[in-house]
Amino acid sequence: MTAEGAFVITGGTIHDPATGRDGVVDDVFVDGGRIVAPPADPRGFARVDARGLVVMPGGVDLHSHVAGPKVCAGRRIAPHLARGPDRAIAAVPTIHATGALYAALGYTTVFDAAIACAAAEIAHLELAELPILDKGIFLLAADRGDVLESLARDDARGLERLLHASLDAGRGWAVKVANPGGPAFWKHGRRGDHHDLDAALPGRGSLTPRLVLERLAEAVGALGLPHPLHVHTANLGLPGNWRTMLETMRSLAGRRAHLAHVQFHSYSGGDLDEGSFGSAVAPLVEFFNAHDTLTLDVGQILFGDTVAMTGDAAAAEHLAAATGVPWMAHDLHLEGGCGVLPIAYRDTSVIHAWQWAIGLEWFLCARDPWRVALSTDHPNGAHFTAYPHLMRLLGDEPFRREALSRLPPAVRDRSPLKDITREYTLQELCIVTRAAPARIAGLPQKGHLGVGADADITIYRPDRDLARMFAMPAKVFKQGILVAEDGHLRSTPAGRTLAAVER
Ligand SMILES: [Zn+2]
Repeated sequence: MTAEGAFVITGGTIHDPATGRDGVVDDVFVDGGRIVAPPADPRGFARVDARGLVVMPGGVDLHSHVAGPKVCAGRRIAPHLARGPDRAIAAVPTIHATGALYAALGYTTVFDAAIACAAAEIAHLELAELPILDKGIFLLAADRGDVLESLARDDARGLERLLHASLDAGRGWAVKVANPGGPAFWKHGRRGDHHDLDAALPGRGSLTPRLVLERLAEAVGALGLPHPLHVHTANLGLPGNWRTMLETMRSLAGRRAHLAHVQFHSYSGGDLDEGSFGSAVAPLVEFFNAHDTLTLDVGQILFGDTVAMTGDAAAAEHLAAATGVPWMAHDLHLEGGCGVLPIAYRDTSVIHAWQWAIGLEWFLCARDPWRVALSTDHPNGAHFTAYPHLMRLLGDEPFRREALSRLPPAVRDRSPLKDITREYTLQELCIVTRAAPARIAGLPQKGHLGVGADADITIYRPDRDLARMFAMPAKVFKQGILVAEDGHLRSTPAGRTLAAVER
């Protein structure tokens, strides 16, 4: 007995790292929006012929920015920016276009990684209009005064109660901290981006950013949330900030923690380093490789025009001052805020070229792809529609080498990238775009094609040009519904909201 909508994808080449299938030909049975075991009697299952095609789980974007006040500000500050062959894709698309573009790319789940607790309701109203994808938000709960107070008192139970209440009220999936303690420095008229992890927060006794990180990670672990503390550490974007990143990892090692957009936190240079701006990935990735409770997303930059938006208002202010562009600062009812500004990444800029090379160095030197999620920190480093280009950079060494050869000599000749020959396999690309982010996010029903998984499935045409292959799946299913085919939307079912606290 099968429900309407039961079908079998036959003869496809399966890439499903979670079940250990690496390019094996197999059938995938779907019934009731989920993947099911092969039935004794397959009559009644419609057939979808996938011979010669590649079958993967739907993509999961663990760190993106698609909703809330910062995204609206991004649309206002840069309405002229667009990308794509005919510049048809806005740098910050409408909520409807965001869902349609993600789905056409084979993605079926997205998280907005920075929503202030006070903006959660607005964000959910917007996300209710995001078609197709399942979606969740990470709450900036550590910006709240009461949370800071319990952190300062080292009141672990009180902290857990407050975080749980925030997640419940804001229907959040995870707790995010952006520049730990940064808003406290910012609001006391001090540069929020120039403190280290051991500077005491103004008005909070002996509380330091390091203690904020440690106590939050502990509380998130004690609450048993699906995703560990999501950490955007201090000094984002600043020369010499690799020291802060290393200290952050040292503080969190031994606990589960997720390090966001590490590319933006891996720079040498500044007053403490003798050399000029450059890559400090080597000591960081060495520590990361040796500490398996830590996970990361890269926040790759790609060349072009985009919009930066961050819960770290101080970083936005610094960047706007450095580049001479107008910026917007939100102050959300005394609860942290957000900085938004347009940004143009140029391959003629030594700084931008370093950022590009540093992101790729992280991808290629992190040994375990299961602890790595592919991201551009959309739209901060690049638009999510550039993921296929990024996947080609990872999986096609000659293509990457050619791109590196066009960069300024300071980067071309000094970046460790010039000596790295690793190419991501299809299986590894599958891991960093779906299997790993699903596992890191804590979504047992996502990122794989095993029995019981949501029938979120993407079918690609194999192509030596990986960018072309991943840019236009032949078919995309969301919970068993065909939503996109060859770049065309076929239906727009509503996605579900992923909330950590059951109601
Ligand atoms: Zn981000």
